[in-house]
Amino acid sequence: MSASRFRGALMTVVLVSALQAPAHAYLKLGSDVNGRTISLLWPARTPVRYFISDQSVDGVSVPQFREAVGRGFDAWQAVETASVGFEFGGFVGGRPLDQDGANVIGFASRPDLERTLASTSFLIDTRTGEILESDIFFNSTFRWSVAPGGEAGRFDVQSIATHESGHFLGLGHSLLGETEPRPTGGRRLLASGAVMFPIAFTAGNIVDRDLTADDIAGVSDIYPDGKFRRTTGTLQGTVTRNAKGIFGAHVVAFNLRSGDMVGGFSLDDIGAFAIAGLAAGTYIVRIEPLDDGDVESFFENPSAVDADFKATYYQRLVTVPEGGGSVRIAVEVAAK
Ligand SMILES: [Zn+2]
Repeated sequence: MSASRFRGALMTVVLVSALQAPAHAYLKLGSDVNGRTISLLWPARTPVRYFISDQSVDGVSVPQFREAVGRGFDAWQAVETASVGFEFGGFVGGRPLDQDGANVIGFASRPDLERTLASTSFLIDTRTGEILESDIFFNSTFRWSVAPGGEAGRFDVQSIATHESGHFLGLGHSLLGETEPRPTGGRRLLASGAVMFPIAFTAGNIVDRDLTADDIAGVSDIYPDGKFRRTTGTLQGTVTRNAKGIFGAHVVAFNLRSGDMVGGFSLDDIGAFAIAGLAAGTYIVRIEPLDDGDVESFFENPSAVDADFKATYYQRLVTVPEGGGSVRIAVEVAAK
C-alpha cells in the first residue's frame, strides 16, 4: 500500500504514486511531461500478462500466492463497465524489482520500508503515458496469509493484491476513508470507502477484497467499455473560498438511493472538479479538506494542496443524468 517507489530507467522515466491528474475523479496515476499531465494506462485492450516470482514465505506457498493474486486481479476484471483483462504467464525466477520487460509479482524483503506492505512500480513511455512494465512487490518483512476468512496478525495477500493491482492498472489513491494517528506513529484506519485508500486495515482484515463504487468508477473511467459513458453521469462544479479557486479539495458524491460514495478532487486554479462514472440519480455533495492522510500519497506536489477550509455540504441536492453532466455547481467554503 503506501505510495510506491521511484525506479530509474535508461529510456523512460518511472513514476509511481498518485500524481495530480486532469480534471477527473478518484485519482488516475499521471506523469508530468513538459508541463502536461499524461494518464498512465496499458495500451492495448488485450489481456495484460503477468508472472509470479517463485519465492514463498512463511504461511504462503508459491501456488497459494499465485491464486490469491489472481483473485485480486479478478476483482477488477469483473467490473462490468470497464474493459480490462489479465493473463497469468507462469512462474519465474526473476524478482519483482528487476527491470526485465516482464510484469513480475512476488515477495521481496525490504525491512527498510517499515510501513510499506506492498508497492507497485512502473516503466512507462513518457511520450504517451503507456505502461511498458509494472511490477508489484509484497514486503516479506510482514507476516502474510491466504486463509479464506483472514488470519489474525497476518496481512491478507488477496486484499493487498486487489489494492496493488488497482495501481497496476493506473489508478491512484482515493481519499474515501477515516483514520486516526497512532501513538507510535503512522495512522490507523477506522473506516474505508475504497480499496484504493492508501492505508491498509490492521492485519487479519479482508474487507479490501471487494471493490467499492469509488474503485469501480475509477477503473471504468480509465478503461471505459462501450456502455460506460452512456450509462453513467458526471458531477461537475467548482470549489472556492473568497471567490478564489481551491486546488486539492476532496469532493464526495453520496448517492441518496444506493448509499454509494464516489470521491474526486478539484484539480486546477479555478477549483474545478468533475467526477465521472456516477450512477444516474440524486446526490448529496460534501467538500472536505485533505487532512486525513499523508498528502504525498495523493499528490506529487503536496504544497499545491489547499486544506485550509471547513468541510462543507452543498446546500442542494444535485441530479446527475445518465450519459451526461450535472449542472455546474459552485460551492463556496469558509476558512478554518
Ligand atoms: Zn497504494
